Amino acid sequence: MLIVGLTGGIGAGKSTVADLLAGHGAAVVDVDALGREILAPGGPAVSGVLDRFGAELAASDGGIDRPALARIVFNDADELAALNEISHPAVNQLLDERIEAIAAAADAEVVVLDMAVLVESTLGRETRFPYEVVVTVEAPPDVRLERLAERGMTEADARARLGSQATDDQRRDAADFVIANGGVPDELAEVTSQLWDALQRLADERAT
Ligand code: ADP
Repeated sequence: MLIVGLTGGIGAGKSTVADLLAGHGAAVVDVDALGREILAPGGPAVSGVLDRFGAELAASDGGIDRPALARIVFNDADELAALNEISHPAVNQLLDERIEAIAAAADAEVVVLDMAVLVESTLGRETRFPYEVVVTVEAPPDVRLERLAERGMTEADARARLGSQATDDQRRDAADFVIANGGVPDELAEVTSQLWDALQRLADERAT
């Protein structure tokens, strides 16, 4: 089994690549969704977040009021670090459980961890199944802003999110494969198919 960390700046096309890889047979774990799951009612990070950030962050359903939490940590490195200390181990533990289940089912040779914050975090690294290969998806900032606008995000919000993330250079430094997605969807499908072939070769090497 080969564990792949898949990242990319918001709007670059990371989730689209994850879907394409799933179509080829990869098992995809949405790590960003795990980040929401740990803050949902009964989630493993709920009490830690309430202790650290205050009981007023409790949502009426018993989970965490994520927009309110986001306002606290956005553009505040200390508060963000405090949150990450609570959330990242919780996400990594869920990741372990998910990957273990995929391994037990033995139904995928390639496991893709779809994660926005790869270089910014220990997610997918401080686990029992750390990713072994990194793929980053890139597109020019103006193209990304346009796609985010089509998805209904305001320009100010999109620019703020782009600015708060790691840079393409940082992601590229960490990457084994760089997928350029400045073109049309058919081109992306083609390069992702080539990526899939390369990942399968690596997985086969592992297996032998
Ligand atoms: P990310 O996960 O990196 O934020 P997504 O994969 O969700 O990005 O893509 C952002 C938006 O752009 C989506 O609506 C997606 O359908 C669209 N998109 C992705 N790749 C292309 C492309 N090559 N051409 C046009 N639209 C694209």
